[in-house]
Amino acid sequence: MQVKIIGGHGGVTKNYHATSYLIDESLLIDAGSVASGLDMQAQLKIDHVLLSHAHLDHTKDLAFICDNCFGLRKSPFEVYCYKNVHQAIKQHLFNDIIWPDFSVLPSIDKPTIRFNEIIAEKEIQLGEYKVLPVHVNHPVLKPGEGMGFIIEKNETAILFTQDTKATDRIWELGKKVKNLKAIFTEVSFPNKLQTVADLSDHHTPATLKEELKKMPKDIPVYLGHLKPNYQEELIQEITDLQESRLHIMFADDVRYNF
Ligand SMILES: [Zn+2]
Ligand SMILES: [Zn+2]
Repeated sequence: MQVKIIGGHGGVTKNYHATSYLIDESLLIDAGSVASGLDMQAQLKIDHVLLSHAHLDHTKDLAFICDNCFGLRKSPFEVYCYKNVHQAIKQHLFNDIIWPDFSVLPSIDKPTIRFNEIIAEKEIQLGEYKVLPVHVNHPVLKPGEGMGFIIEKNETAILFTQDTKATDRIWELGKKVKNLKAIFTEVSFPNKLQTVADLSDHHTPATLKEELKKMPKDIPVYLGHLKPNYQEELIQEITDLQESRLHIMFADDVRYNF
């Protein structure tokens, strides 16, 4: 599997894009930068979209891929997300006020985007991929909304948590997965902003250090969602952890092959 980091950051500024990972050109995880970071040909190749949660840095470019690809595709973008996430997007984004409702455009029969609700720990098959959604702890004010995903194809599995604070279940399930090749997770704020991280349900390097003890052993861990304005400080603090399996995703538009 190839994982292309279209955007791997927890914010948006010049050269830093919000979260969107593309697997083998057709399966997208989160839509924070899929329109701004991919050309039109690449946008048209996407079949399935997994959404971890409704926050804007993971969903905003749904609006723009629909606008860009409107009328150009034979089938809709098939989006898979938890029911509360679907409701939030319907109510607050594709509501004909903030943006047109592309789930009924150009027609109800042939929409540009279609939402499919998923439930935790019920595996789905998307083309060649087996996907197991697992709840993580983000955002905790509305528990049970955020999802991580364990994705398998051809005897290779990768675990993605996206945004989360300390969590357990996905690590328990990850330990049972054969051929797990990589873990993608987050660290958002430097240690001096521990209170902000706690309130917003994210990791600092200090809490990540504890979290690592619960993760499947000896699997490489790719860290994203760094806040662009604290990136240098975060790189230093992560380096200070002296954990050889950590890889920091400080640049976007990077590919990893597993
Ligand atoms: Zn985020
Ligand atoms: Zn979030």
